[in-house]
Amino acid sequence: MAKTLKILVPDVGDFDSIPVIEVLVNVGDVVAAEQSLITLESDKATMEVPAPQAGKILSLDVALGDTVNLGDLIATLEVEASVAKQSTNYIPVRESQLELPTIAAAETVKPVSVDTDSSEETSVDYDFDLVVLGAGPGGYTAAFRAADLGLNVALIERYSSLGGVCLNVGCIPSKALLHTARVIDEAAAMSAHGLRFGKPEIDITQLRNWKGSVVSQLTGGLAKMAKQRKITVITGHARFTDKHSLMVASEAGLKAVSFSRCIIAAGSQSVKLSGLPWEDPRMMDSTDALELEDIPQRLLVVGGGIIGLEMATVYQALGSQVTVVEMLDQLIPGADKDLVRPLQRRLKERMNNIFLKTRVENVEATEDALIATLSGKNVPEKLKFDRVLVAIGRTPNGNLIGAEKADVHVDDRGFIPVNTQMQTNQAHIFAIGDIVGQPMLAHKATHEAKVAAEVCAGEKSFFDARVIPSVAYTDPEIAWVGVTETEAKQQGIDYKVGKFPWAASGRALGIARSEGFSKLLFDPKTDQIIGAGIVGVNAGDLISECSLAIEMGAEAADIGLTIHPHPTLSETVAMAAEVFEGTITDLYIPKRK
Ligand code: FAD
Repeated sequence: MAKTLKILVPDVGDFDSIPVIEVLVNVGDVVAAEQSLITLESDKATMEVPAPQAGKILSLDVALGDTVNLGDLIATLEVEASVAKQSTNYIPVRESQLELPTIAAAETVKPVSVDTDSSEETSVDYDFDLVVLGAGPGGYTAAFRAADLGLNVALIERYSSLGGVCLNVGCIPSKALLHTARVIDEAAAMSAHGLRFGKPEIDITQLRNWKGSVVSQLTGGLAKMAKQRKITVITGHARFTDKHSLMVASEAGLKAVSFSRCIIAAGSQSVKLSGLPWEDPRMMDSTDALELEDIPQRLLVVGGGIIGLEMATVYQALGSQVTVVEMLDQLIPGADKDLVRPLQRRLKERMNNIFLKTRVENVEATEDALIATLSGKNVPEKLKFDRVLVAIGRTPNGNLIGAEKADVHVDDRGFIPVNTQMQTNQAHIFAIGDIVGQPMLAHKATHEAKVAAEVCAGEKSFFDARVIPSVAYTDPEIAWVGVTETEAKQQGIDYKVGKFPWAASGRALGIARSEGFSKLLFDPKTDQIIGAGIVGVNAGDLISECSLAIEMGAEAADIGLTIHPHPTLSETVAMAAEVFEGTITDLYIPKRK
């Protein structure tokens, strides 16, 4: 006997009138369990609503372009009574609420077996030589480079503003706010040296507007440059329909776009911890935190990685009492422990609490507070906060673009494997940026973008960067590139260190920030630099010299003998090389007997 099952709009978080951007089935269709029925798109995430069980669609109660709310009827399904669940209301967990595994470091490019036949359909008249899916730093760079090389290019982006996560809700707004934090901190620090300013008056609306103006200056510039390059910008949500076409859904309706080649640059999204009250507006991901809606008195930051600590730095400087909770035994996992120590010391003085090896088990939303339940050694079981920021990592969007329709392989974590020419398993379809693997960084995306665009234009380009630098724009900053000491030890790589403490740098003392150091790792057989780590003010700017040195195969003497301007923090890099060489005069290192 058959039974009917009503499928309702699930809880996808903070939404009101969320648009249906795809309807994937028709009345009368027989669907499999877990087969997607419709796609919804909130401000924060795109999710497909699957069929809870196999069955036949008796009625469809939503159409493309409708807006829906929690609990609205999507469809009625006829299922076999023997397999029908007790409940008639099916509310699946939203995709972003699933607790995702920590993403392990992946190789930037992996060997993939490429289906070369798929690129040979050259006689067909496609709409575009190249379609780029996603307009983040990867996507817009690829589109611009390809257009400069003479291709007829379309750039598809679901938001009206180009620039992706980095420009709109990532690198750029966070650095504008970190600059604010630095000015506040430096002004306060000068009181110990005889220069006293009053307590800062913070006009949060003006600050927010300034941050917004920095973003719009950049994103507006991108739109202008796209126009100058005669790139067709299409606003809407795209999914593959086959190996040479995409369907773009927007308020204006559906638009089919065909391509000879395609570059997937659809990026990533924040990982959301499951079981937390995401429907409560006091719960934040990094995008919400950058909105700077208010300055909470008590802020919990879940995650002691780069993004969590950058936002903790901002809010603490603006006046919040910040507690940081990190599951692992160190902040900024990935950086050497000695590099993290000066940062941790400074944060300890400024943050209310830093709990390592601690988990946030639960957050209960009450009227006057968010009550977090913690588990760890010597930590309070429950703490009250006014806002909670969850910054526990990002997950790729590989499963949200209909890649299967183009036979593009997506791995079980949502990454799209590529080769050193950024080709997926389909030779004419490329992928770049966050969606292809770690490290999820804008400068990796832009370099991959140029390779992909050049290969699309027939050039013999390859992604062959030896190293990709990482930076935490905390205070002090931490930057590292190449082999870390931790990796060298784990992998049995022979190395010797040259380390220069900033306590001996005149410039560091002159800006009252001598807690940092510059550390270079050398291959003892060749004297070539293989890695570097810097902690201190502006470490992010200083690390570039080390990246160049590694790329150029520089030896310690090349770095030490290069004349660096005095007095600068950049000298500390040369002096670290001199320490390794034994030629340093700015320190006294007794000779070993
Ligand atoms: P994204 O920037 O994610 O862009 C992907 C684009 O594709 C988006 O605009 C998205 O809307 C669009 N898209 C996705 N799916 C579709 C679809 N189906 N149809 C249409 N459009 C679609 N990196 C750094 O290097 N330095 C930093 O200082 C830094 N700070 C950061 C701070 C924060 C708070 C965050 C969250 C990230 C930060 N990052 C930083 C990481 C950086 O933002 C990313 O590595 C970078 O944006 C990745 O670029 P991308 O082009 O791969 O993807």
